Amino acid sequence: MPVMHRSSTPVPDSLARRLEETVGTEHVLTEPSRLMAYESDALTSVRGDPAAVVFPGTEEETAEVVRLLHGAEVPFVPRGSGTGLAGGAIAHDAVLVSTVRLNRILEVDPQSRRAVVEPGVVTDEISAAAAAHGLRYLPDPASGSTCTIGGNVATNAGGPHCLRDGVTTDHVLGLDLVLPDGRRLRLDRGDDGGLDLAGLVVGSEGTLGVVTRIRVRLAPAAPAVGTALALFDEVGTAGAAVSRIIGEGLLPVALELVDRNTIRIVEESEFAAGLPTDAGAALIVESEGLEEEVEAEVERVRQVLEASGAPGVEVAREEQRRKQLWQARKKAYGALGRLAPDILVQDAAVPRSSLPDLLPEIERIAEEHDVTLANFFHAGDGNLHPNLVFDRRDAEQLRRVEEASAEIMELCVEAGGTITGEHGVGLDKREYMSLIFSDGELAAQRRLGRAFDPDGRCNPDKMLPAPAGGGPTGATAE
Ligand SMILES: Cc1cc2nc3c(=O)[nH]c(=O)nc-3n(C[C@H](O)[C@H](O)[C@H](O)COP(=O)(O)OP(=O)(O)OC[C@H]3O[C@@H](n4cnc5c(N)ncnc54)[C@H](O)[C@@H]3O)c2cc1C
Repeated sequence: MPVMHRSSTPVPDSLARRLEETVGTEHVLTEPSRLMAYESDALTSVRGDPAAVVFPGTEEETAEVVRLLHGAEVPFVPRGSGTGLAGGAIAHDAVLVSTVRLNRILEVDPQSRRAVVEPGVVTDEISAAAAAHGLRYLPDPASGSTCTIGGNVATNAGGPHCLRDGVTTDHVLGLDLVLPDGRRLRLDRGDDGGLDLAGLVVGSEGTLGVVTRIRVRLAPAAPAVGTALALFDEVGTAGAAVSRIIGEGLLPVALELVDRNTIRIVEESEFAAGLPTDAGAALIVESEGLEEEVEAEVERVRQVLEASGAPGVEVAREEQRRKQLWQARKKAYGALGRLAPDILVQDAAVPRSSLPDLLPEIERIAEEHDVTLANFFHAGDGNLHPNLVFDRRDAEQLRRVEEASAEIMELCVEAGGTITGEHGVGLDKREYMSLIFSDGELAAQRRLGRAFDPDGRCNPDKMLPAPAGGGPTGATAE
């Protein structure tokens, strides 16, 4: 986890004027006091002021902005809402190209069950617009009320309800991309043959260009929903129950775990859901489908949870109670903000069957390094989110957090896991990439990036580490 705060070299006046002519004076920021608001994403330990922030309002303006930056040989970084947790949307000595004005839902077509949206649309707004037709957009990152669909595409975002229905890439039908030299591409996914370039762009973390339009799949709204809440004495027992549910052949839409510390912290906040603060962990399990299917699945889930050591299982039937439980889970990150100014979120995905052993081990590592840990995560996917809470101004505390974070990461990789389940690599996990990929595999990824971005100026330094033996980092370095 690199810790930095740097100011950027300002963009030349002539470039700033050309950018203003393209998007309007009020849509270009260059004053240092206003740039500070863009110094980090939600990973606050990695900071750097951009050289400027530009807010194009159309696809054409976006392409022209990128063309101008390319002509001036100035690097740039696409940015949505800045809720990313990997330091992917920060720019030092680079210009931020913000998509927040590209926020139109262009089409919702109930016949083909598709929507066409601009990248700055807030994720939850797609479902809100589709609801009039009895449809919804399935991926639901916990940040859905603030993050953008463009950011979701760039990080291949997941969410609590991705267990059964898949992550962002499973719902993207096509996209438009402004290449790093300003040219525009339309990329569709279908049976026409050729490489799945849209699929390549999903998850490329803004290193291949700016996504300016997205065509997404919509699904019918669920006729019925049932949510079960189970409390456990120990986090390891809750972890074992997760595998048991899946092992019984059940596939709920969501299976989320919150640990002891999270319960305590949430219950002290405005998001309290009345969970007992002496519980060791809680599981939230949600089923969707036809009324009878949901009834049957919730009943089987309840039996498995009780057989796995949950003393009692609550089945939330009222919409209000369901919302309360989900708020406790989805707003847990916000509640953590009351403890300390900084949070480092780990994002490893591990084999589900390793959860009973790993979860107590992660708690042990946090204790050993004397750091505050709260774990709430997509347990059904084995996608852990150990949150380490700290104050980066305390160098000694920061060192302990870094050590604990590295140990947790290594533990997860040793257990057969990955370094990121859904948040992406960004700057934060770049140095861990070699735990997963060989030199040859990393070089192949760099070469592929260079096909889109030969000059290495599109979100430079993100995702891929510097090659062994030195040299530039980033998706486009050799
Ligand atoms: C409370 C909280 C809960 C969260 N829960 C989840 C969760 O459940 N699941 C999950 O997956 N993530 C989650 N996240 C992380 C984050 O919300 C996601 O990574 C989200 O997809 C980022 O969207 P954004 O608009 O904020 O993107 P940003 O943070 O602005 O950018 C993220 C990355 O996308 C690139 N990018 C953004 N827009 C574009 C574009 N138009 N074209 C090309 N590249 C682009 C940026 O360069 C950067 O690399 C959570 C974060 C928070 C703070």
